[in-house]
Amino acid sequence: MSKAAYRALKTCKFCGAEIEPGKGWMYVLADGTIWYFCSSKCAKNMLHLGRKPERVRWTAKARELKQKRRLGQNV
Ligand SMILES: [Zn+2]
Repeated sequence: MSKAAYRALKTCKFCGAEIEPGKGWMYVLADGTIWYFCSSKCAKNMLHLGRKPERVRWTAKARELKQKRRLGQNV
């Protein structure tokens, strides 16, 4: 993949993973905010189930928080 194409990758709003071009969901809110999701799994967790990324173990945010706690930083 070229550098320009790599930079254009979007990150998933829920799990934080990079989304390949042509994959995933784009969700537009009434106020014009755009959320990208890598999969329907992530979209459903956020939109339908109302889960917070910080509280779902397999997301990047949760892993980051876990790592911070392990290092003894205040979160
Ligand atoms: Zn995702």
